[in-house]
Amino acid sequence: MSIYRSLGLEPIINATGTVTRLGGAPMPEKVLDAFRDAASEWVPLEQLQAAACRKIAEATGTEAGLVTAGAAAALTLGTAAILAGHDLGRIEKLPHCDGFPSEIIIAREQRCGYDHAILAAGARFVEVGFNEIVSNAGVRRTELWEYEAAIGPNTAGIAYRHAADSQPDLAALVELAHSRGLPVIVDAAGELPPRGNLKAIPATGADLVAFSGGKAIRGPQSTGILCGSRELISSAALQMLDMDDHLELWDPPTELIDRSRLNGIPRHGLGRGFKVAKEEVAALLVALDLFASGAYDEELPRLRSYLDSIVEALSDAHCECAIKEPASPDRWALLEIAVDEASVGHDAFEVCRRLRAGSPPVYVGHGKLAEGVLVVNPLCLDEAQTKQLASRLKEELS
Ligand SMILES: *Cc1c(COP(=O)(O)O)cnc(C)c1O
Repeated sequence: MSIYRSLGLEPIINATGTVTRLGGAPMPEKVLDAFRDAASEWVPLEQLQAAACRKIAEATGTEAGLVTAGAAAALTLGTAAILAGHDLGRIEKLPHCDGFPSEIIIAREQRCGYDHAILAAGARFVEVGFNEIVSNAGVRRTELWEYEAAIGPNTAGIAYRHAADSQPDLAALVELAHSRGLPVIVDAAGELPPRGNLKAIPATGADLVAFSGGKAIRGPQSTGILCGSRELISSAALQMLDMDDHLELWDPPTELIDRSRLNGIPRHGLGRGFKVAKEEVAALLVALDLFASGAYDEELPRLRSYLDSIVEALSDAHCECAIKEPASPDRWALLEIAVDEASVGHDAFEVCRRLRAGSPPVYVGHGKLAEGVLVVNPLCLDEAQTKQLASRLKEELS
């Protein structure tokens, strides 16, 4: 019996993709095997994270890396590292930053709900630029000089949210930041694939980059990756790992934590609540190998065939289907279904509501409902679910 049914729940058809709300990406067999294997033995977590550090560094072309409890946790830990470094007093004080720089500069147009992750470390934002294009009051994006003008004695660093069309250019912003001795932390949580971004984003020189482990990498949903400068990763690790040891015995791997930089052993840090289990670290590393090696490309034809079969099933329905080709060859296509709201008798929101309320419950992408469009992301579907999905869509759209 389904574990969820035994809890009184009805499993859904997830046509939305890797979203956190619905449980994230499907983990491949090899990832699940790693999770199970890791549960049968024990290793000190700092040694495991040091091994992860090596593997992440290799996969991302950075000096060091850490497995975190999601990209949001990576942003909190990365910010904590920027604020406190290896200063034990500051590590102890966070999230209170009295007496040391704690301002993070961020473009208004890049602000979003994940900003809590940065603020939770104790940072305060200094906003620059405007969102003039969205407010229909201008034509320009945030510009480099605006960041430069905002730098002051309390500036601790710069935060940047990466998107394919982000402005200003990240490499140019990093150059400016470094010329003023400031680090840049990048939210690249959902920027994979293209898998080239694993290396291309850190190659801009950004000091810290956060990726989700539970999206396209297809590790456990609760994992993420923080990668970048050894110095900052070391501080992030210190503030996340359990610190309940004696200084005389404490022997963390130097590649992850450089003990000689510290004049004592810190207490549990700000990130202690973001702990990652050994099983999750092991599973994420296997998923990262699969993702980085291109192993997931094999599945693209199967995912495409799901979309084709839905288009065929809806040929007579009150809708227009359009397959949206992916922006990079290692990404999968999406299906957009424009609802003929007049013929169906209600709007796309209502169609979406009815799909969720039906049996089995069906969740389609809801980012374009205001335009009357349902989006199907095939990543979390199998063949049987695709048939059920097509038949539920046909019922609601006929
Ligand atoms: C998904 C996402 C996050 C959070 O990632 P988690 O791994 O779920 O913590 C942060 N920022 C952006 C832009 C995202 O898309």
